[in-house]
Amino acid sequence: MIEVSHIEKRFGDNVVLKDVSMTLAEGTVTALVGPSGGGKSTLLRCINLLEIPTSGTVRIGEASISFQPGKKLGWSQIQPVRRQTGMVFQNFQLFPHQTVIDNVMEGLVTVLKWRKDEARTRALALLEKVGMAHKADAWPATLSGGQQQRVAIARALAPSPRVLLCDEPTSALDPELAEEVVDVLTRLAREGTTMVMATHDLRLASRVAEHVLFLDGGLIVERGAPSRIFQTPEQERTKKFIASLS
Ligand code: ATP
Ligand code: MG
Repeated sequence: MIEVSHIEKRFGDNVVLKDVSMTLAEGTVTALVGPSGGGKSTLLRCINLLEIPTSGTVRIGEASISFQPGKKLGWSQIQPVRRQTGMVFQNFQLFPHQTVIDNVMEGLVTVLKWRKDEARTRALALLEKVGMAHKADAWPATLSGGQQQRVAIARALAPSPRVLLCDEPTSALDPELAEEVVDVLTRLAREGTTMVMATHDLRLASRVAEHVLFLDGGLIVERGAPSRIFQTPEQERTKKFIASLS
C-alpha cells in the first residue's frame, strides 16, 4: 500500500501542495489530472523524494518517512523510500552515452550491485516486455521518441519498484508514437503494476486508470473513477477544466 498523508510543499512563500492525502492499493493505477501548475509533477516528485515535502508523510510498503519544517533528513532515511519507486519522465531522459540495454541495467549494477550477467538477463526480459529487445544494442539517439519512452519504462521497472510514477509519459510524442507507449502502459496496468500517472491525456487516463485525482492550485479538488470525473464532474473547477479540453 502507498500512502501519502497531509503533504504540504512550499517553494518559498508559494504553497504548491496543500494538505494532499491519497492512498493507493497495490495493483491500481491513479491518474493525476488538472491544469498546468496545479501541482501534478510536484506531487510525483514528493512521492519519490526528488522534492522534499515541507511536511507530511510518505509511506510505501514498509518504508516510511515523515517531514516537518526545519527537520533535516539524511540519505539513509530518503533512500529506502525512493528505492520503492521508479520514475518515467516526459522527455525520457535516457543516458545518451549508454546503449539501450546498458540504460536498463545501470541501476541494477551500480545501485543494487547485481552481477552483470544477471542484470543483463533481467534487462532483456524487460525490453522484451516493452517490445524493444531487438534494439538492445542501439544508442538512444537512434530511436524514435516512442521507442525511447518504452526503454525508459523498462529502465524504471528494472529494480522492481512497488510503484511506477509517470510524469506526462506521452505528451512529448506524436499520436502514433504515443499509442505505442499507451499500449505498454495498458499492458502493465493489466498485469497489476501499481502506477501513478500525471497526464493531460484523458483518453490515456480513461484507458489505464481506476482512479482519477483532479488537482488544482495544489489541492485535490475531486476524486473518483475516470468516467465519473470526466462525464459528470461535480466541482466547478473540474467542470471548467473538462469543458476547456473539449
Ligand atoms: P504541468 O501540467 O504544466 O506539468 P503541474 O501540475 O505538473 O503542471 P507543477 O510543475 O507541479 O505543476 O508546478 C506546481 C507549481 O509549483 C507551479 O506554480 C510551479 O511554478 C511551482 N514549482 C514547481 N517546481 C518548482 C521549483 N523547483 N521551484 C519553485 N517553484 C516550483
Ligand atoms: Mg507537470
